[in-house]
Amino acid sequence: SFTLAIVGRPNVGKSTLFNRLVGKRLALVDDQPGVTRDLREGAARLGDLRFTVIDTAGLEDATDDSLEGRMRRLSERAVEMADACLFLIDARAGITPNDTLFADILRRSGKPVILAANKAEGRAAEAGLIEAWELGLGEPLALSAEHGEGLAELATRLAPMVEAAEERAEEAETDIDVEDDDGEGDGPRPITAKRPLQIAVVGRPNAGKSTLINRIIGEDRLLTGPEAGITRDSIAVPFQWDGTHMRIFDTAGMRKKAKVQEKLEKLSVADGLRAVKFAEVVVVLLDAAIPFETQDLRIADLAEREGRAVVVAVNKWDLEEEKQEKLRDLRAGFERLLPQLKGAPLVTVSAKTGRGLDRLNAAILKAYDTWNRRVSTARLNRWLTAMTEAHPPPAPGGKRIKLRYMTQAKTRPPGFVVMCSHPDKLPESYSRYLINGLREDFDMPGTPIRLWMRSQA
Ligand code: GDP
Repeated sequence: SFTLAIVGRPNVGKSTLFNRLVGKRLALVDDQPGVTRDLREGAARLGDLRFTVIDTAGLEDATDDSLEGRMRRLSERAVEMADACLFLIDARAGITPNDTLFADILRRSGKPVILAANKAEGRAAEAGLIEAWELGLGEPLALSAEHGEGLAELATRLAPMVEAAEERAEEAETDIDVEDDDGEGDGPRPITAKRPLQIAVVGRPNAGKSTLINRIIGEDRLLTGPEAGITRDSIAVPFQWDGTHMRIFDTAGMRKKAKVQEKLEKLSVADGLRAVKFAEVVVVLLDAAIPFETQDLRIADLAEREGRAVVVAVNKWDLEEEKQEKLRDLRAGFERLLPQLKGAPLVTVSAKTGRGLDRLNAAILKAYDTWNRRVSTARLNRWLTAMTEAHPPPAPGGKRIKLRYMTQAKTRPPGFVVMCSHPDKLPESYSRYLINGLREDFDMPGTPIRLWMRSQA
């Protein structure tokens, strides 16, 4: 099930929150010695959400010098085990150096983070809430674990994550038993109103994300003025695009709230992270005038690492004059700066005029399709033979590495296992050769491809 880790320095109120979420339903106390001893795990209930919560509270009472290091290791472990993290700070104390330390751990983990400023009952916490934005982890949620305030808001934020995790778990299950060797596989699961295609539009501020989403959804439902965004949070908006049911992860409310540019940038990375976690297909939106800023690269890379299908859309194409030349530059830049996204489609659009949106739609559907692709074992092995004949693997110490057999182990994104005589000796470049070959020969643009070399058991 979906697992949430409660993380934060001692005394911010983790235990109080844990107890409130779990009540008496403490499912498991891990009594192994060492680090895990101090992790508590319980079955949490929040509104109609059910999930597992892990807490590092076992250390709250410790006072010795090593506390910090232990706390840190413990938190890292909890984060590792979790699907998402709830980062607690003390709204009354403001941001302390220790909080910053934990924020770094969380950011590095790449896990989605909900930042909550606890002890926020009454008005005493306002300053702390504003300060909390500085952590660059998005909008702080005002919480009072002790008084039970802010829990509804917490549920709202958790809901899409819990749902996405449940859906992914279901997908993973169906993935296992649908190995089918004689055809072209089973194709993607059907997109229905109940199971819409989940997309996210990510990119730096002002790339035109809101404009694009408005354009796609076809109503002016996103926020345009700063005042409208005060209480809005990210939500998943269902809609149909040319007859396909989709759900889009929209963080417009959060973005509109941060006024200072620097904060806005940090914020949109955290935002982007959440959106990427949610989505099946990620549209990386670049501004044609300033493509490939660090932030663009970071978010695109993140989407690849998370294994999402990726479509790159270059916006504000209406403003470009030398379109041919510009397109050539873009392709070159793309290849040089985002080699890990090789094969992702590049589509030029104008969110403002609506031009290119039909091509964007087609690219999204195609990327989704590829992401779900399953190639039969028979075809893969014929292909592997041809590939190794065309370009034999190296022979370290005179003994040629043998690639014996290949099969597709998973989809979403496609992952392949190759049985290999000495996987540790096979150079990275050979894996790349195979991945690029797979992409071309089986026409798989717009999706990461995973390849694992295994020695025969
Ligand atoms: P976001 O921060 O990524 O959501 O960006 P917005 O959607 O708020 O757009 C930022 C600015 O770019 C606004 O002034 C938009 O009107 C403008 N913009 C967005 N898309 C286009 C486009 O395709 N062409 C032109 N010319 N301007 C655009």
